[in-house]
Parts: sequence; structure tokens; C-alpha cells
Amino acid sequence: MISLRAAGLISLFACTLALSPAPANQNKGTVNSTEDIDLSIRAGDDFYHYSNGIWLRTAVIPAGQASYDTRSILAARTSQRVRDLIQEAAAAQSAKGSVAQKVGDYYASFMDESSIGAKGMTPLTDEMAAISAINNKKSLSAYLGATLNSEVDGLTGNADHVFGVWVNQSFTDSRRYVFHLLQGGLGMPDRDDYLDQSPKMAGLRDQYRSHIAAMLKLAGIDDVEIRAARILTLEIQIAQTHAPDADAADVFKQNNPWKRADFATKAPGMDWGAYFQAAGVSEQPEFIVWQPSAVTGTSALVGSEPVDVWKDYLRLHLAEHYATVLPRAVAAEHFAFYGTLLSGMQQAPDRSQDAVAATNAALGQAVGQLYTQRYFSPEAKARAKAMVSDLIAAYRARIPNLTWMCPQTKQKALAKLDALRIGVGYPDRWIDYSTLDVTRGDALGNMRRAEAFNRLGNLAKLKQPADPDEWRIDPQIVGAVILFSPNTETFSAGILQPPFFDPQGDAASNYGSAGAGIAHEISHGFDELGNIYDDQGRLSSWWTADDLAKSHAAAERLVAQFNGYCPLPDLCVNGKQVLTENIADLAGLLTAHDAYVLSLNGKTDVVINGLTGERRFFLAFAQRWRKAQSETALRRQIKTDTHSPGEYRSDTVRNVDAWYKAYDVLPGDKLYLKPEDRVGIW
Ligand SMILES: [Zn+2]
Repeated sequence: MISLRAAGLISLFACTLALSPAPANQNKGTVNSTEDIDLSIRAGDDFYHYSNGIWLRTAVIPAGQASYDTRSILAARTSQRVRDLIQEAAAAQSAKGSVAQKVGDYYASFMDESSIGAKGMTPLTDEMAAISAINNKKSLSAYLGATLNSEVDGLTGNADHVFGVWVNQSFTDSRRYVFHLLQGGLGMPDRDDYLDQSPKMAGLRDQYRSHIAAMLKLAGIDDVEIRAARILTLEIQIAQTHAPDADAADVFKQNNPWKRADFATKAPGMDWGAYFQAAGVSEQPEFIVWQPSAVTGTSALVGSEPVDVWKDYLRLHLAEHYATVLPRAVAAEHFAFYGTLLSGMQQAPDRSQDAVAATNAALGQAVGQLYTQRYFSPEAKARAKAMVSDLIAAYRARIPNLTWMCPQTKQKALAKLDALRIGVGYPDRWIDYSTLDVTRGDALGNMRRAEAFNRLGNLAKLKQPADPDEWRIDPQIVGAVILFSPNTETFSAGILQPPFFDPQGDAASNYGSAGAGIAHEISHGFDELGNIYDDQGRLSSWWTADDLAKSHAAAERLVAQFNGYCPLPDLCVNGKQVLTENIADLAGLLTAHDAYVLSLNGKTDVVINGLTGERRFFLAFAQRWRKAQSETALRRQIKTDTHSPGEYRSDTVRNVDAWYKAYDVLPGDKLYLKPEDRVGIW
């Protein structure tokens, strides 16, 4: 349903199918990467090591990491930039109400540990009093409704708070937003943490119970051992109702429309009238219940378990939720369990890291405005949009030529491509934060107000028609997001930076690197990941059984090709496991090359550093996949990942005729494939 690529960004612009004004010959930038070429290797023998040899010889995997690649370099660079921007805003004393003031004051308040310490637990006094006032199922239901978490999405397996809501279009109607209700409420990440009977997990539960007791004590509550045991028992009961991971990932099992009236009969226990009224959605007629067992089961627990146990559970989760902006002892206890025990972190990160993360979480698009003002200009966005237009045009031109797809399915594919919205860089319309008050010195209050602001913003969408151009991830994140429902893809300003994409740089390199990556993602909308969503993002299988059978037959040679890659004597790639991604790599490369040719408008590209445009295109593609990784990481990747190791992704070039011509690859070269052995598919 939603597929996250590492981290992501989304934007809004309607893709046009017309050719964009050609960015050809705007080759003012340099191709820095020529210095990484290993001229002792023949390109046709080993293109990956030819393209990356010098880099691979000198790359050092940073301590504590299992691998090192361009993505990790960009992530480190971007996070430093974001940190600098936020800290500058904190130092600048900007005008009250401005985006910079909000960002700066949010960060500065989070960093002000002496002020946080001086307040103790008092910032939670009113909320703790609201919990203490709960005296029956109705008031309990109302409190749970009031704390419904709206900051979740389709990837959330366990919402913080009993349930989470994701406001997104319906699976059957693209015109309106609906209320997707997701399971939640577990303090540990996953149901297996509660249900796994191994001694190791039983030990973890003992440690969790001790942590609960410690948190309750810090919150000024007595009889903590007894209460902690009861809270853990309640969470185990909630975990028993959660859907297993396999079910949670199956979209057809998630699509369970419930009418408002269904809740009382399908999930008795909760006072749903009180719940939905307190959540502010009592007029909502329909809900998509992703994990019915969790809604039914948790509701039954509201009915069956003592209100006092629920109240202790809520006190605990309130303190956990705000632990980072509570006194140091609370934050330290929270980290001891979640950071050290669960995540294996040896020591707490510098507080400024947490402060940056919290500021991004609360004010994502405000930080995004500061980031793009400095690092991603309107001109960069226009250049990226022009490239995307070329990619769409190139992809469109390939569809009629597919040998395995029947004519009716091709029509559906073309309609889906027409409807696809691709965002690049940053949104055309930013979130308006003017009604959000951020006050220096009030860390916890700022967090609560930001949560309320984001929640109201999300719920307000229920009253509006669905906006296919809505941005859902922040521009300062190095990543991209595909949302099959709606039919949108978004590429952040963070991922659109050199060496993937240089707004002032060489078109051939941009198309070979970022272009091939974007086209890879485009193709997912039309392959075996996207073929259950139609042009409007509605759940609907639009391939025929014959298309499926023929596409599998067409892919067999690609499976065999990758089965033949063995980086170690006892370790070979599993061609089937990585097939979907390899098909997308191939489609992406072929499409990006067509798009690059389109962008030239019939002209010949200039030569830079002795390399023709064709050579630079494929070089950028191969350099996109450079990666230094430990043998352990390589073995794990081959065993579990649906993506092939970078070297073999780079070797996708073997299937592209233009690569042979660009690098004079001939029979006898190790990567040479006879024309009839080169795989097409898309
Ligand atoms: Zn992919």
C-alpha cells in the first residue's frame, strides 16, 4: 500500500506527457566521478569496478556501521545541514510567529534541560488529573478517543496510543479521504515481544516490567510493583489481539470498511459514542479497520478489565510519551529501556540530536522551508521536473511495445501513467503553521501543541476532497515515497542532490543516476507491486492472468542471469528473491536512457573530461550503486534483501544495447551478452 524507500519525500505536480524544454547541453557542471574510474579494468569485463575501483579501494566503513554508500554520505551531510539550520534559527531570535522563530524556539526549549528539570512533572499535572478523573467505561472511552494518535501512516504496525488514525483516500473511492483505523497501544514494538515464549523474550518482559515500575515511581505513583505487573498483563492481552505481521502487511486483509454503527456490534466493550465524539470524528460515517481483531479485542478489554488498571496503563504511557521533555531522570530511564535494551545503543546520543529529531517531527515542513530556501532552489525543482517529464514520456513510449502485456492491459497502464502524480523537491503549498504557538522555555507545552495542531490538520482533511498532491514526508529527508493509493510518488530535495542529481550539473549524469532511480520507482506502479492498484489508486487487479503468466516467462532469463552472480565461493544471488527489484532496475535504466536521448532533442551531447554523454550516463548509473560493506552484511543482504548487491545492480547495463556501443563492449568481454540474450521485459 505504502512503500517507503529509506526515508522519504513527496510533492505535488501533475506530470505532463509533453516533452519538456530540453536541458541538453547544459553541461556546465563537472563530472567529479571520473577520478574514481579504475583505468586498469576494462569496462566490458567488470563495469562496476571500472566505474568505482578507486573509490572502493579508498572507502572506509565508519565505525559502528556495516556498510557505506552514497545514501549514507548524503544522509550524514543532510543531517548536518539540518542541524546547522535549526541551531542558527535558535540563535537568531527571529520575529515572533515566523517559521524560523517556531523552529528555533522549539529546538531551544528542548535543549533547555535546566528549565525542564525545574518544572519537574508539573507540565503533566492537568493530563494526569484527567486520567484520575476517569471513573467508568464511558469516561475511559472518551479519554482513549481524545488521545487517538493521528501521526501514523500505512507502515505503522503498532501506533503509540491504543489506536492510530491515518487519513488517506479510500481503497475504493479516490475522491474522498477516509479514516483508516490502525492497531496500537503496545509499549514494546511488536506483538511477538509479548507472545514469544523463548527465555530471551521472557527475560525482556521482566526487564520491561522493571522499567514500568521505575517510570511509575518517577511519576510519583506508589505500589509500583503491583501496578507494573498489571500493566504488563494488560499489554500482553492487547498483543494477543494484534494481527500477525504477515496479515498486517496484506492490503486485502486491511480493507475492512466498518460503518459507524458496526462498532457497537462488531467490537463491544468500548463506549464508541464517547470515543468518537472525544476524537472529534463523531460525524464520520465510515472507517477502514485495518486489523479488526485488534479493534474487537482491545474494545473487549476496555469492557472487561478494571478501570483502575487502564488508568495506570494510561499514566505510564503519558510519561513515556513525553519522557524526552521531562526531567533528566525520566528521560534517562526511558532511554535505558528503549535506547540501550531494545535498540542496543551503548550511550544516549547527544541531546542536540534528539532535539533536532523532535523539531523535525513537530515542524517538518517548517524545517523543510528553511532547508529548501538554502539548498533546493525553484530552478533546481524546475530542472528535476523537466527530467521527470522526460522520464514519463520515455516510459509511455515503451508501453505499446511490450510483448507480454495484452492490448487492453496496455490501455490501463497508459491511463495509470497519465494519472500518476510525481512530486520533486518540496511542496507547492506548504503547511501553514500560523495557528501553532511555539514558546521558548515550554518544551512539553510546545510538543503537546504541535501534536494537537498536526492532529487537527489531519482530521480536517476528512471534510475536504482528497488531494492527490498532498505531501506526506519532509523535503529535508534523504528519500522517496511511493503511495500506490493515491497514485503518487515523491522525491525529496534531500535525495535530489549531488552525486544523484546536480541542478547545475551534467544532464547525462543526472539521468543515469537520479533519473534511473526515479524511473525504477515509476515502474513499480506498473509491476507486480503496483498491479493491484488502478489509475486512481483504488484496489483493483488490472493485469490479466495471461499477462501475469507471460511476464513470468519473460523474466526467467533475468532470474537465471542473477543466479549466476556468486560473490563468494559458497554464496550466490537468489534470482527469484530479487526479481521484482531487478526488473525495476532494468526498466528504470532503459527508461532513463530513452529520456536522456529525448532531452538532447536530436543534438549530440558535449564531451566532458574525455567522456561522451553516453559514457557519462552509464558511468553515473554504475556509480549510483557503489557500496562498501562487510562480508557479514553482504551475506545478510543476499539472504534476506529483495535488492541485489550494488555490483550486480550496476551490471544491469549488460542488457542495454546502448551500453555496448558507448563502451565498445565486444564478444569476449566478460560482461558481453549476445543481443538475443539481453533481457528486456519493460
Ligand atoms: Zn524498487
